[in-house]
Amino acid sequence: MHHKLFIIGAGAAGLMAAVTARDMGIDTAILEGNDRIGKKILMTGDGRCNITNESTATGTDEAIALSHKYHSNQAGFPLAVLQQFGIRQTIDFFSFLGLPLTRLKEGLMYPMSLQAAAVLDIFQLALEDRNVPVYLNNKVLDVTVSKNHPRFKIKCQTETEEEVVYTSDYLLLSAGGLAGPNAGKEPPGYTLAERLGHTLIEPLPAIVQLKLQYPNMRALSTIKSQGQAHIIVNSKVICSEQGEIAFTDYGITGPPILQLSRKAAYHLARGEQVTLSVDLMPGRTEEELVEFLERLWETFGHRTVADCLVGIFNKKLVSVLLKETGLDQQPELLCQDLSMKTKGKFYRILKRWEFKVTDTNGFTNAQVTAGGIDTSELIEGTLESKLVPGLYLAGEVMDVDGDFGGYNLQWAWSSGYVAAMALAKSIQ
Ligand SMILES: Cc1cc2nc3c(=O)[nH]c(=O)nc-3n(C[C@H](O)[C@H](O)[C@H](O)COP(=O)(O)OP(=O)(O)OC[C@H]3O[C@@H](n4cnc5c(N)ncnc54)[C@H](O)[C@@H]3O)c2cc1C
Repeated sequence: MHHKLFIIGAGAAGLMAAVTARDMGIDTAILEGNDRIGKKILMTGDGRCNITNESTATGTDEAIALSHKYHSNQAGFPLAVLQQFGIRQTIDFFSFLGLPLTRLKEGLMYPMSLQAAAVLDIFQLALEDRNVPVYLNNKVLDVTVSKNHPRFKIKCQTETEEEVVYTSDYLLLSAGGLAGPNAGKEPPGYTLAERLGHTLIEPLPAIVQLKLQYPNMRALSTIKSQGQAHIIVNSKVICSEQGEIAFTDYGITGPPILQLSRKAAYHLARGEQVTLSVDLMPGRTEEELVEFLERLWETFGHRTVADCLVGIFNKKLVSVLLKETGLDQQPELLCQDLSMKTKGKFYRILKRWEFKVTDTNGFTNAQVTAGGIDTSELIEGTLESKLVPGLYLAGEVMDVDGDFGGYNLQWAWSSGYVAAMALAKSIQ
């Protein structure tokens, strides 16, 4: 079977590229290892699919503001892509396909139905409208390149373990990364690209929970609190985020933690000691906190410490605070009898509670892969390989990852569109 363009991977980037390439008149087909398209999209945004984030759509500087949400060894690389297809174009594109978006808190954009399945249905319909063949249950095992026609030979394994070879003149690799419960099963897109001469920048899990070393982890589990989290490496705070944090029985999660996890993963991978410091009272300075609690101890001096704190903190947290300060051994101690030393312990824990980070929660629980195919080997603004003309990359497979909040799907849409348009121009 020959097509002008084969796309490897019917994820967000591949689906966007397929619709775009077909609309540019290119004979396009998709190879997908799974038994359906876009399986990962179904899991996104807690089943609602956070398609993009409008908070960075700030007029003329939109692409620049947006590019600051991305990470790559080539820091400036995403900009040339985002300048061609950004947030506005994404909203218009989905509206054009029949999927208007709605904005929820903090600029997060979702399908109006608030169902990730709607995104898949719309892509399915768009592919049918355009007669784009999708070869499901076709795991690409290998790709070879020839100087003669046809340029690409793509060896696949079907569900009956039969080997089939497809050919094409152009190839778009959008096979994703290693993040997610079913991602990265053999052979990942990285392997295919590496065999074609590309370099892999070490993939690490990002947007992922952190595992903490703490003897009372179970006691903390399920506690949620507003907080500010800091990652400390070599005694230096290297990044901080604020928002709702949630303790679990293995560690910690919540938007600020997910956002910081990329840096934690990077330093852990280098064997460095990583510490998480949590400020459970981010709205108050240390002085304000001391003043606030001193007033509380004084006003309710006749109450036990536990009774005094129960109106301020989660009850489970109060138990842990008492244990941490040693007051669990003196449950009847009244606020008026608290020593300066114990009060000091409270202040330190509430403002700078430090935990050793032992690991991330791994690729299976991560939302995105940091690292991937080296972008210095791709042409900026077209995403064509500098090593293999006619090969284009899109989505998570390359060394670009975004922050939490819709930016990774945005990268999939932007890069899928740009690669398909560049390839169409090259054909024309
Ligand atoms: C639980 C979860 C929630 C998320 N929520 C959000 C969110 O709300 N917003 C957001 O912006 N991002 C979110 N993300 C991240 C986002 O989903 C990904 O960054 C994005 O889907 C990447 O798109 P992609 O097309 O590059 O790769 P993928 O979506 O991973 O698609 C790759 C496709 O290639 C196929 N494939 C792989 N190898 C082969 C092969 N050898 N042969 C044939 N086919 C192959 C795979 O089966 C897959 O269908 C989430 C991720 C996870 C795991």
